[in-house]
Amino acid sequence: SRQFTRPLNDLANQFNTLLSAVAGAERVFAILDEKEEEVDEKQASELREVRGEVDFEDVSFSYNDEEQTIYDVSFHAKKGETIALVGPTGAGKTTIINLLARFYEPNSGRILIDGQDIQQVTRSSLRKHMGFVLQDSFLFQGTIRENIRYGRLEAEDEEVVNAAKLANAHSFIMKLPDRYDTILNQDGSGISQGQRQLLSIARAILADPVLLILDEATSSIDTITELKIQEALHRLMEGRTSFVIAHRLNTIQQSDQILVLNEGRIIEKGSHDELLRQRGFYYDLNHSSLRENQIG
Ligand code: ADP
Repeated sequence: SRQFTRPLNDLANQFNTLLSAVAGAERVFAILDEKEEEVDEKQASELREVRGEVDFEDVSFSYNDEEQTIYDVSFHAKKGETIALVGPTGAGKTTIINLLARFYEPNSGRILIDGQDIQQVTRSSLRKHMGFVLQDSFLFQGTIRENIRYGRLEAEDEEVVNAAKLANAHSFIMKLPDRYDTILNQDGSGISQGQRQLLSIARAILADPVLLILDEATSSIDTITELKIQEALHRLMEGRTSFVIAHRLNTIQQSDQILVLNEGRIIEKGSHDELLRQRGFYYDLNHSSLRENQIG
């Protein structure tokens, strides 16, 4: 199984450490923003009213001097579209997300949200508009209610419950001994991986971001939970611009655009039908993986 990015993992650990020291949960990115390497430029402004259009313009990037990771990546995502990133392990899917969330910055090229270069805005204003639903969701030691509320700290209890209902999480929560007051361990043990995902979807619904980053689970989750996750994700993604590191054929087929990556380049892009007609890399990928119903 694949791991999500080091920055995001660090973030989760850092957050867990900090949380035990800080009374009242700060948003994780607000904490991260205080780190030295994350200091914003003096002239940085707030990201203005966000509708959700995203442009990559000839973005190139390398993590180190040895090799380039991303080559001239360009694409345009319209407001509300679902963009699937597909391709073999190491192709650069996660790196594109790291750049979009500005955990790293391009060596050349620009990334624009609604026409604003993300390098010119504060990280906190950028990430305020982004929701993350990852394979390993950040859970912290605290109640289920606190874990969901972390999406929007000022949310009322009723809003937390409504978000859990929309995320198909309410019914399992109500079966736990202390319901919303059930305390989760830092690693979320005690509930299943699928249930952890439902909680992270509830959190994202509560946060109500314009942009969504989804890292689709590769490990197997029981069919009923999987259906609950799919339905909840569908609700969450409605009306938001969503970037999905996608492995399930179904997700990929339903996306508006598929960016096929290989060795750091977008080698094909289009809808599922368009790409099949091209009979190129995507077509081959499909044929080799149709039986498992999973790509990448
Ligand atoms: P994917 O998500 O498609 O599997 P990644 O974006 O994770 O691909 O990786 C693209 C390339 O960048 C790979 O060769 C990977 O080894 C390298 N890479 C990823 N993260 C780092 C990092 N933090 N430092 C150096 N190289 C990295």
